[in-house]
Amino acid sequence: MKTLSCDVLVAGSGVGGFTAALRAHHQGLDVIVVEKESLFGGTSAYSAGMPWAPANPAASERGDTPQKAMTYLQNELGNLFDPQKTEAYLANCNAAIGFLEANSSVRFTAQPVWSDYHPDLPGAAAELRGLLPGVFDGRRLGDHFSELRPPLRSMMIFGGMMVGREDLPHLFNIRRSVVSALYCARIFLRYLIDRTRYSRGTRLTNGNALVASLAASTFEKKIPLWLSSPLTQLITENGAVTGAVVERNGEKIEVRTRKAVVLACGGFPWDQELTGRLYPHRRAGKSHVSAAPRGNTGDAIRLARQVGGRFDDTAANGAAWAPVSLLPQERGPPAPFPHFIDRAKPGVIVVDRRGRRFANEAVSYHDFVPKMIEACQEDQEVEVFVLADHPTFRKYGLGAAPAAPAPFRAFLRSGYLMRGESLEQLAEIAGIDAAGLRGTVADFNHFAEQGSDPKFGKGGDSYQRFNGDRNHRPNPCIGPIRKAPFYAVKMVPGDLGTFMGLKTDCFGRVLSDEKPVFGLYAVGNDAASVFAGHYPGPGSTIGPAITFAFVAANHIASG
Ligand SMILES: Cc1cc2nc3c(=O)[nH]c(=O)nc-3n(C[C@H](O)[C@H](O)[C@H](O)COP(=O)(O)OP(=O)(O)OC[C@H]3O[C@@H](n4cnc5c(N)ncnc54)[C@H](O)[C@@H]3O)c2cc1C
Repeated sequence: MKTLSCDVLVAGSGVGGFTAALRAHHQGLDVIVVEKESLFGGTSAYSAGMPWAPANPAASERGDTPQKAMTYLQNELGNLFDPQKTEAYLANCNAAIGFLEANSSVRFTAQPVWSDYHPDLPGAAAELRGLLPGVFDGRRLGDHFSELRPPLRSMMIFGGMMVGREDLPHLFNIRRSVVSALYCARIFLRYLIDRTRYSRGTRLTNGNALVASLAASTFEKKIPLWLSSPLTQLITENGAVTGAVVERNGEKIEVRTRKAVVLACGGFPWDQELTGRLYPHRRAGKSHVSAAPRGNTGDAIRLARQVGGRFDDTAANGAAWAPVSLLPQERGPPAPFPHFIDRAKPGVIVVDRRGRRFANEAVSYHDFVPKMIEACQEDQEVEVFVLADHPTFRKYGLGAAPAAPAPFRAFLRSGYLMRGESLEQLAEIAGIDAAGLRGTVADFNHFAEQGSDPKFGKGGDSYQRFNGDRNHRPNPCIGPIRKAPFYAVKMVPGDLGTFMGLKTDCFGRVLSDEKPVFGLYAVGNDAASVFAGHYPGPGSTIGPAITFAFVAANHIASG
């Protein structure tokens, strides 16, 4: 077998892997990154790219402190709160983000109004803890642009154009504001020009922009990135990890590490055995669809366990949940579309097959899925329907089906979007109890005029109202459902990546019982989440991925 050596071998090219590689290289170490798939970027490239960073400079100016965040996390995590790990997170997240900004072209902006997900808990903040990466020009990657994992197909418009969170207000206002119309014209034109040369738009936003920035720096610094090269085995000597076997171009290569192997393979969202055991609805024989790439099959977790690494399944939830709908594709399996925002809009409700609302639609995606599972306990599958009338649908869109003026007939033709001239007809098409739905809508409309929702309190806190419509009064999340035709999209339980993972210490070292496995680190979703299965705010997986990758690289460099 061919053998070579380096200081640090990083497996996985998401934000966890790239951050670890860039930081280790910055510390003077000789690094190789290996990636199983032919594309780099992992789930990170699908994501919004937000890290959650309490007491970042903008938030601090408005009075945020690590202590406030500590109080919030203590309340959020309850008896799963780990003070040492949390402290390590809060002490390092801003340094890690500062490092990425200083060593790549990524620039984060703290998001005003974007609230923590449980804003009524002590220590929560209603703004500025979530950071969004700026736009990146994909042309700067040169030939590597085609190796960057594109976003989920369901989340691009016109078959290849990315839309960032900052673009959304302009898209919603395109027919109401000249400034918005010009803004949209500019980005559409750029997209049209791109399509004469590229398979998709090169104006990258969100997680694609973040990954592209980190990758560009990795290439500039000449850190080798091997694609289609899975790590398949860990090598140990006297209980310490001293290298790994990587498969590349059909041959096995033994990579000897002078310092460490860093596992950043994105957790186990496509490991059928583990998810079948750890997700409650899968245990009950029901379906689940991950929005993560299919190559994230828990390889690192299996390999680490073979060398004594411990798997921590004590988290409150196995994964970061999100309701997803499935958008049929011409080729291949349907593309999942995570429903982050639409549920919160005024005039949108979610019902089960009995036509009942079962929860406050505007709570976070992570909190909504357990409600779906509970509501569908008696059903064969967990299937619910997000529903709106014509004016609401055309104003905000529904799932992947876009708002006006974008066309939506293709979504009807594929069966993704269901439409009925009456609520009864929609119920029949979707397989919902018609009388139940009629009653639910009448009940909801009765209170909607006053903007109240006595049953579930939709729009009851700053997080919910943020995802609603600020210009809609009196409640940004409540509006009536009246004008035919009516539309629905089916949602099933899904995830954005796993929360359970390898047990690690405050330095990212993989633990066997309570002792570290020397030479082995796990970061990103390969490590059990510091938030123990809770989702405190925007960026609850990318924040820890960046932070503990940075911390791990520092620890490795310190010897
Ligand atoms: C639509 C969407 C939006 C999201 N938005 C956010 C957000 O804004 N903020 C947030 O915090 N979270 C968000 N998430 C979740 C977040 O994207 C992931 O939790 C995070 O990116 C995981 O990063 P990672 O580095 O651990 O793994 P990944 O980014 O998944 O990277 C892991 C890489 O490892 C590779 N790999 C797997 N096995 C091997 C092997 N054996 N050898 C070598 N390589 C291997 C994989 O192919 C993959 O490329 C979102 C997720 C989705 C789907």
